[in-house]
Amino acid sequence: MSYVKGLKCRECGRLYPKDPLYVCEYCFGPLEVDYDYEKIRKKLTRDAIESRPTNLWRYRELLPIDSEPTDGLQSGFTPLIRAKNLEKVLKVKELYIKDDSTNHPTLSFKDRVVAVALSKAKEFGFDTVACASTGNLANSVSAQAAIANLKRYIFIPADLELGKVVATLIYNPTLVAVEGNYDQVNRLCSEIATKYKWAFVNINIRPYYAEGSKTYGHEIAEQLGWKVPKHIVVPCASGSLISKIHKGLKEFEKLELIKKVDTKIYAAQAAGCNPIVTAIKEKAEIIKPVKPNTIAKSLAIGNPADGIYAAATVGGSGGWAEDVSDDEIVEAIKLLSSTEGIFTETAGGVTLGVTKKLIEQGKIPRDESIVVCITGNGLKTQEAVYEKIGKPIKIKPNITAFEEHVMK
Ligand SMILES: *Cc1c(COP(=O)(O)O)cnc(C)c1O
Ligand SMILES: [Zn+2]
Repeated sequence: MSYVKGLKCRECGRLYPKDPLYVCEYCFGPLEVDYDYEKIRKKLTRDAIESRPTNLWRYRELLPIDSEPTDGLQSGFTPLIRAKNLEKVLKVKELYIKDDSTNHPTLSFKDRVVAVALSKAKEFGFDTVACASTGNLANSVSAQAAIANLKRYIFIPADLELGKVVATLIYNPTLVAVEGNYDQVNRLCSEIATKYKWAFVNINIRPYYAEGSKTYGHEIAEQLGWKVPKHIVVPCASGSLISKIHKGLKEFEKLELIKKVDTKIYAAQAAGCNPIVTAIKEKAEIIKPVKPNTIAKSLAIGNPADGIYAAATVGGSGGWAEDVSDDEIVEAIKLLSSTEGIFTETAGGVTLGVTKKLIEQGKIPRDESIVVCITGNGLKTQEAVYEKIGKPIKIKPNITAFEEHVMK
């Protein structure tokens, strides 16, 4: 059963069939999935959703596949945690962590988009999947393609963290480390995608892939008891996740699953790669590309494909944007682990660091509900914090040594 009418150009509105297409041939705008919301309204009730398994496919009618889902059957429906300890430190009344650092199978929100992309790639008949990645996408495509028995080609910048490289190679893909930054990797992949008949999840399958991110927003609303928070802070790389979280909430509003969405959306980036934040602060019409230089490698996209839509989402919601230095990222990673027991990667440090800043600036009021989007796991970016945490106390295996060195 399909609820997808086709694809639609986000710029000029031209319609396209449900094919592996991603760019409008008239205006070069990106294509987006076009749903039959009237048909979905008849099917998708709160009761229907609540009766389904706890994975991202519980919102199946709002996802762009025609047959039954085949991938990511354990992905999504990650915890939404009331962060009581962090509330005290930040002096705010109601703070939640949406924790995709626990997502199945590869511990980041990318497991959502890949679940949808691979289900769709199989419908299209592809036997090979590929991606250009800043790290987490590489992990997820590699793992989920292994489960799905698909051939896999993964392209990453050569200077990625060891944890991200290992957590890709372990699934035995063809891993190509390109001597260049992500933007160069992406350009190369666009060229390869025109020549080889592969499903590049974030290039020719991108319109379908991107829809998976909506479920992050759907879950926030459902887990808050079919309500929206006043503020959501979202990390931005290409700028896709942030606009899809908002789209997910607006869909629920349209289907009358929740009341009117008045959530303000905030973009979070590292100061060393902040093209979206800069555009929002300067109220610019275009995104000025930058050369990334930050420990937040998963967010290091200097020329973000969905940057203008990210900025428009933030602006339209009445939100704002901020960036943080590498030191502030590390501080925020430590703050989250020491208060809530969640070890996030550098992207999570960006999001929490920015949240803290926005609260201190008074942009986010202390007495309103806030959701912080934690999208990846700290075990993958250990080099970012290794030199900045304590050291173990090394002792000989006897009680005297223990009392001498530890209890002194
Ligand atoms: C990819 C990624 C993001 C942002 O994704 P976009 O949709 O490209 O903006 C956020 N957090 C983590 C950990 C990621 O890997
Ligand atoms: Zn167009």
